[in-house]
Amino acid sequence: RIDNEVHRARNPSKIIANKPIPYAALCDVFEKLEEEAGRLKNLAIASEFFCDLLRKSSKGERKSDGEGPAAQNLIEVTYLMINRLGPDYEPDLELGLGETLLLKALGQSTGREMRHIRDDYHKLGDIGKVAQISRSRQPIMFKPKSLTIHQVFNNLTEIAKSTGNSSQSKKIGIINRMLAACEGQEAKFLMRSLEGKLRINFGEKSVLMALAKAFVEFEGGEQGDNDINAKALVIAQEQIKEAFSQTPNYEMIVRNSLKYGISHVAEHCTLKPGIPVKPMLAKPTKSISEIMDTLQGQTFTCEYKYDGERAQIHLMPNGDMRVYSRNSENMTERYPDLIPVVQELRAENPEIESLILDSECVAWDTEAHKILPFQVLSTRKRKDVQEKDIKVRVCLFVFDMLFYNGEPIIQKPLNERREFLYKHVKQIPQKLQFATKLDSTSTEEMSAFLDQSVHDSCEGLMIKSLYGSGSRYEPSKRSRNWLKLKKDYLEGVGDSLDLVVIGGYIGKGKRTGWYGGFLLASYNQDTGEYESVCKIGTGFSEELLANLREQLKPKEISQPKASYVYSRDNSNAEPDIWFEPYMVFEVKVADLTTSPIYKSGASYFGDGEKGISLRFPRFIQIRQDKSTEDATSSEQIVEMFESQAVMQ
Ligand code: ATP
Repeated sequence: RIDNEVHRARNPSKIIANKPIPYAALCDVFEKLEEEAGRLKNLAIASEFFCDLLRKSSKGERKSDGEGPAAQNLIEVTYLMINRLGPDYEPDLELGLGETLLLKALGQSTGREMRHIRDDYHKLGDIGKVAQISRSRQPIMFKPKSLTIHQVFNNLTEIAKSTGNSSQSKKIGIINRMLAACEGQEAKFLMRSLEGKLRINFGEKSVLMALAKAFVEFEGGEQGDNDINAKALVIAQEQIKEAFSQTPNYEMIVRNSLKYGISHVAEHCTLKPGIPVKPMLAKPTKSISEIMDTLQGQTFTCEYKYDGERAQIHLMPNGDMRVYSRNSENMTERYPDLIPVVQELRAENPEIESLILDSECVAWDTEAHKILPFQVLSTRKRKDVQEKDIKVRVCLFVFDMLFYNGEPIIQKPLNERREFLYKHVKQIPQKLQFATKLDSTSTEEMSAFLDQSVHDSCEGLMIKSLYGSGSRYEPSKRSRNWLKLKKDYLEGVGDSLDLVVIGGYIGKGKRTGWYGGFLLASYNQDTGEYESVCKIGTGFSEELLANLREQLKPKEISQPKASYVYSRDNSNAEPDIWFEPYMVFEVKVADLTTSPIYKSGASYFGDGEKGISLRFPRFIQIRQDKSTEDATSSEQIVEMFESQAVMQ
C-alpha cells in the first residue's frame, strides 16, 4: 500500500500560481473525500481546493472576463469531479469503459500477467485499486513527467469521442501513456474515471455547493467577516442552484460567476433554446382532501396526468429543433417522427422564432384516436430509430410554455404562460395537443375529472397553482405548487418509488438458476451514497427473472461499493451477490416503516442508526429512463414517511 504522506512529500501536488494544475493535486482531494465521511468536511475540502485554484490561476484579479486560465482550470476540475467531460445533454462525452478493455490496458502498461491482474480484481472489486497496486509494483527507470489536469481532461475527452474500428487500440494507447505517467493514487482515480465510477462520496449537488462556497471565499479575499460570509454563502448557493436549473452547464456557470460575481450568476444563466432546463417536478398526494389542505386558499388548476415520456421541445432561432428527456438527455434522434410535427408547428405559427415547450409524449392510436398505455410507448426502439420503421405513433400533450421568441417566461404565473401557449401555438390534431384541463376547486368536479382522466387512459391528475408568484415555473424543484394524484395510489403512499438494485439473492425452488430477490436502495443526493431500503421478491414473472439474470449478470461485483450503505450486523439482510449501481426498479409499496436493518434516510432523522424501509414492496417495471442518480432520493423517502405519519 502506498503511504500517502510519503508520496506527497516526494511528489508535491500543490497548485503553483500560474502553472498548469497537477493531476496529483486533484487526486489528493479525491483521496480525502473518499476517506472523509462527513458531508460538511467534504464540502470544505472541495471548496478549499476550488478556491485555491481560483486564487492561483487568476493573477490576483477577483473578477475577469471569464475567459482566462482560472475559468478553464475550474471548468476542467469540476467536470473531472463529477466524472463527466461536458454537459449531460452533449452527446459522446460519456466515460464508462468496460472492465475487459481497462484490465487489458493495465496488463499492457504494467507488464503484469493478466491472471494476476484478474485475481486482484476479483479480490478487490475495484479496478482503481488494482491499478494502484500494479503501478506500485512496477520498477520505474525514469521518473515520468507528471500529469496535468488539462492533459487528463483532454485525453479522457479523446477517449470518449473515439468510435469506429480502430478505436479500441487507440483508447488503450492513450490509457497506457497516461498510466505510465501516474504516481501514487493517480492510477487509482484515473482508472475509476475511465470506468465511470469515481467513488468519492461526493454527489453533483455537493459539487455545486462547494463551487458556491469557493466563489464566496475567493471574492471575499483572504479574511472575511464571518457573518457577512454566512449570508453571502446562502445567496451564492441559491444563485448557483437557480443558474444550474436553468442552464445545466458548468462552463457557463463558472465563466459567468467570474465575470459578474457569484451573487449575480443566475441573472446571466437563464434559459436558452438548445440547452435543456431541469424540469419542474411534482409532490405526490394521496387524496383530493390532502390537495385541498396543501393548496389552501390558492386557486389551482387540474390537468390530465398523461402516462408517457416527458419531452421538452426546443425550437432554436436558426431553425433547429431538439427534444430533451426528463434527464436532459437529447432524444431528438429517438423521435424522428417529431421533426415533421415541429416543422408543421412552425408553418402554422410563422411568428414563432424560438420556443421551449414542456410536454408529455404519449403513444397514440391513430385509428381509434386515443391514448395508448405507457407499455406500448416503451416498445419503441431507443437506438438507431428510422422513421420508416416506427410502428408506435406518438402525440405530444403540451402543458407549459417556458420560453417564447427570445424571452424566458418562467417567472410569469401559470395562467399567463397558458394564455401565451394558447395564443401563440396552434394545436395539430393527433400530433400536438394541449393538456386537457379543469379550472375548478370544487371537490366533486375534481373527483369526476379524476375518473374521466383514468377513463381516457391517463394516470390521474396534476394539480397546479394557477395565479401569482407561487405559480411560476420552478426548474428542477419538486414543488408544493405542483401536486400529482395517481389513481392507483389513492390512500397508499401517494406514489411508486424508483429504487436502485444493489444486490441479489440466489433463487431457490422454482427460481433456481435466477436471482430469487433483490436488495434495493434509495439515492442520497447529498452524499452520493446508495442507502438500502428493502428486499423485494414479489411481482416478477419467470420470463422477467430470466431477463433480469441476463441483464444483471455482467453487473455483478465481488464486493459492495464503498458508496453502499447497508446493515453490516445482520447477515440475513445482506445479499448473496452485489451489483454495480445500474438498474432502477419502479416499486409499489403498502407503507413505510422505520427499521434497524435498512438505512434509507438514516442521516436525516432520529439517531442516525435507524433508517426507513418499505413494507410489502412489489415490482412494477424497470425504469429505463432513469439513471441511478435520478432514483427516489433518501430525502424523498423521509418526506413520504413523515407525511404518512401525519396522516395516521
Ligand atoms: P418524477 O418525475 O416526479 O420524479 P416520475 O418520473 O416517476 O416521477 P411521475 O410520478 O409519473 O413521474 O409524475 C411526474 C411526471 O408526469 C412528469 O415528469 C411528466 O413527465 C408527467 N406528466 C404527465 N402529464 C403532466 C402534466 N399535465 N403536467 C406535468 N407533468 C405531467
